[in-house]
Amino acid sequence: MADGGPVEHGFPHLDTVRSALTALYRRLSYDTVHAFATSVVPADVAFSDQDDLHLGVQRVARELVRHFRLPDARVIVSFREMTHAANVELAAGPEYFIELNDRFRTHRRDIGAALAHEVMHVYLHRLDLTCPDTWDNEVLTDTATTYLGAGWLLLDAFREDDVSSQKLGYLTPEEFGYVLAKRADAFGEDPSIWFTSPQAYTAYTKGRAMAQRDAQQPPLTAAGWAGRRRYAKDRRYSQEHGTPYPPSGPYIFDGRSPLRVSFTCPTCQQRIRIPVRGRVRARCGLCRTVLECDT
Ligand SMILES: [Zn+2]
Ligand SMILES: [Zn+2]
Repeated sequence: MADGGPVEHGFPHLDTVRSALTALYRRLSYDTVHAFATSVVPADVAFSDQDDLHLGVQRVARELVRHFRLPDARVIVSFREMTHAANVELAAGPEYFIELNDRFRTHRRDIGAALAHEVMHVYLHRLDLTCPDTWDNEVLTDTATTYLGAGWLLLDAFREDDVSSQKLGYLTPEEFGYVLAKRADAFGEDPSIWFTSPQAYTAYTKGRAMAQRDAQQPPLTAAGWAGRRRYAKDRRYSQEHGTPYPPSGPYIFDGRSPLRVSFTCPTCQQRIRIPVRGRVRARCGLCRTVLECDT
């Protein structure tokens, strides 16, 4: 896990994050994803300066192993001087060795966040769900950690004041907020009560606004007036010319009779294709979200 450097903001990895959500639903199935209805709570990973360092770190690691349902995995955590925040050795198991940067010895509040990311590497490794590209693989790991209930710790580790800033993980704070908001929608959860960092909370609200935008694109009925007007224009163009249209944007029309429209499921981000015939209630086959559409 990377550490240090200026904090990047915004949504530069959003496409990769969205693909990661789809990959997660595909590999785990709806039922397994929804087995993670409860997030890690602050008490699970609380770690005070009075606690024994090595016993404490093993306790937090065990808690995360339990959260991610890795019953036979044994995680052994050690500290050493390193440039990265943390690292895990992905071997055959059942023992996995995680190294934490020495600074966590005296910076215990974020140990849960660092371990959540590393334990997720173990989880994805065992599922054989990885990306060939190293960076994309880290984005997948942060996205999965967050969607499955431990990533709010990573976002909460983002703190800034006049003289310093710190952040863990590969997503920007706003991207963590985006995935967290997707989780909140899917599981009926309010993560905002857990934040101790005001900067994390602000990033969450920005990510949530972006997540809400996904659910307000036509043909979804929640789309705004301007979007609906553009949609009707594009539909007319496609009907008249019989070609897939428009070339880019949140939806595309294709197929002459009947005309069909493809768009992205706001929950799992997979593409959905339905006939154009007015008000339609579609159900996403992957994440089972019911989508109210006006096609
Ligand atoms: Zn990593
Ligand atoms: Zn879906």
